[in-house]
Amino acid sequence: MITHHLSDTLLMAYSAGTLPEAFNLAVATHIALCDECRARLASFDAVGGAVLDRALEGAAGSSARMESGALAATLARIKTGAPVARSPQRPVQNALLPAPLCEYVGPDVDKIRWRALGGGVRQMLIPTSEHATARLLYIPAGAAVPDHGHRGLELTLVLQGAFSDEEARFGRGDVEIADEATQHQPVAEPGEDCICLAVTDAPLKFRALLPRLAQPFFRI
Ligand code: ZN
Ligand code: ZN
Repeated sequence: MITHHLSDTLLMAYSAGTLPEAFNLAVATHIALCDECRARLASFDAVGGAVLDRALEGAAGSSARMESGALAATLARIKTGAPVARSPQRPVQNALLPAPLCEYVGPDVDKIRWRALGGGVRQMLIPTSEHATARLLYIPAGAAVPDHGHRGLELTLVLQGAFSDEEARFGRGDVEIADEATQHQPVAEPGEDCICLAVTDAPLKFRALLPRLAQPFFRI
């Protein structure tokens, strides 16, 4: 039961193909798990298609009064569009790693090469284009990620287990959207190790000295 969803802004940007690759990956992975956001995305895709149709009609007409450059801008946006496959994604019910994520890290969670971050927390950086960073986080049951704030946008999507922070509890499929206003300390629930996909577009702000010293090294 997913209770924390993507925002309209994120779905629209995904539909328009204007998000950095790392955020595309997080949106596509949530959509693979979430019927509700998949349906909302379909409606944004339809609206985007209608806008494009009108732009093309305008360009075809001899007395087109379209602002010059509007069509070119639309087409350029399409050309630079989402590198993540946009074929209709069916939900993957039993696999831990939904299809869009498997394309990046392989299908087998046991074969992931984790790197220790301290306190039992591990990460795997996922190579994507610049402007944003994607990582898988492994938080042992009961363990905490150091208390931190944000210089930009952070999406954290739960794949296994659950975590809680000052905002809420997040279980499989839930996505937490954190920004400059969010200060939090995610703690994995006891009982099951928590695996998350975390995407950021700016370095985090740690209060404690140790994570602050280590963060350039881990690109976190
Ligand atoms: Zn959703
Ligand atoms: Zn955070």
